[in-house]
Amino acid sequence: MGQAAPGKVLIIGDGLAGALMAWECQERGLDFEQWSNGSPAASDVAAGMFNPVSFRRILPQWDAANHSARAREVFGAIESKLGIELWHDVPIVRVFPDEQYAELWSERANGGHEVSPFIETLASKDLHPSIKAPHGAGIVREAGWVDVSSLTEKSRAFWQDCGQWKSQSWSMDEGCPTGFGAVIDCRGVGAAEDLAAFGLELRRNHGEVITVQTEAGWGDETVNNVTWALPLGSGAYRIGSTYRWDIDEPIVLKETLNHLVSRVNLARTDSALLLSDVTSHRAGLRPSCFDRRPILGRVTSEASWYVVCTGWGTRGVSIGPTMVDWTIDAMLGVTSDVPDEVHPKRFRTFTKN
Ligand SMILES: Cc1cc2nc3c(=O)[nH]c(=O)nc-3n(C[C@H](O)[C@H](O)[C@H](O)COP(=O)(O)OP(=O)(O)OC[C@H]3O[C@@H](n4cnc5c(N)ncnc54)[C@H](O)[C@@H]3O)c2cc1C
Repeated sequence: MGQAAPGKVLIIGDGLAGALMAWECQERGLDFEQWSNGSPAASDVAAGMFNPVSFRRILPQWDAANHSARAREVFGAIESKLGIELWHDVPIVRVFPDEQYAELWSERANGGHEVSPFIETLASKDLHPSIKAPHGAGIVREAGWVDVSSLTEKSRAFWQDCGQWKSQSWSMDEGCPTGFGAVIDCRGVGAAEDLAAFGLELRRNHGEVITVQTEAGWGDETVNNVTWALPLGSGAYRIGSTYRWDIDEPIVLKETLNHLVSRVNLARTDSALLLSDVTSHRAGLRPSCFDRRPILGRVTSEASWYVVCTGWGTRGVSIGPTMVDWTIDAMLGVTSDVPDEVHPKRFRTFTKN
């Protein structure tokens, strides 16, 4: 396998997907330019957390070990190129909701299950004194967060300095602009209308996060009781998130403040957080698909220059670097196509042509 390079590549969007795509194009020696129209991006809001474990059912996330390893490698390389710190290792303490959950966690933490390498049960003496966990707690050590907004801001400035970034809108009806051989669509929810024309539904998942400044002294670990509080240092915590399918604009809701603050206090002995500690409140739209897998690759043979890389949902940081690899590998003919699990053909409504 292996085809000729497509010519100059145009990346549309400079959120997390566009930023990772640009760095990988550079890595592979592809000539590229990036356009973005500055419309609201999920990446401006993302907490950037990575966690190899799904807490709902105590299972590993999709191909967690491989995706995490690749993410660590890629973000590390970008840190060196930009000279900034992006990757933060911060364990997550999971507060058990009830006895049944605690038993299942302990059973799996003891070994012999695919999730076992990722989880441990915490002895109560090892719990930070601020944590209230009547049913006990567990810990995921290989977790943390990536500073997504620094990544996108610094990357944008970098490519702008190189003359490879432009403030410009694009949509499918403009076709492949003169001088380019391929367009890679990293528009997040901005791609929804064009993808719908191929029977591909890109859903908008509304989410909100807040940042607080507190003197509570809550320790250095993220604490999760479904709502999570991620320590950013110097008394700042990011708290989230919400998930709603019934709102398709990135608006903040006043009632969310109360909800998040009271949920977070439930996991603390001191219930110390006050509404007045909130320093920011933001909302965004996660680009999502029905089966929580992205949409990658070509969607029509009539426009084989058009390549999609979106639908990263709630886990862009963990899966993004691998999704970019798969997209570019298929575009360049390194692989015959993207894997079935991210292929547009898995949509029953997909109109192949
Ligand atoms: C509240 C919240 C919390 C989250 N927390 C996490 C988390 O902890 N961990 C995690 O991994 N993920 C998290 N996410 C998800 C994460 O934000 C997404 O997976 C990821 O940011 C999607 O990136 P993207 O580049 O595909 O889309 P976006 O970030 O939305 O970027 C789209 C880009 O396309 C541009 N654009 C749109 N239309 C056009 C057009 N017509 N022409 C040119 N440019 C255009 C936009 O300006 C933008 O630059 C969270 C999301 C939200 C909303």
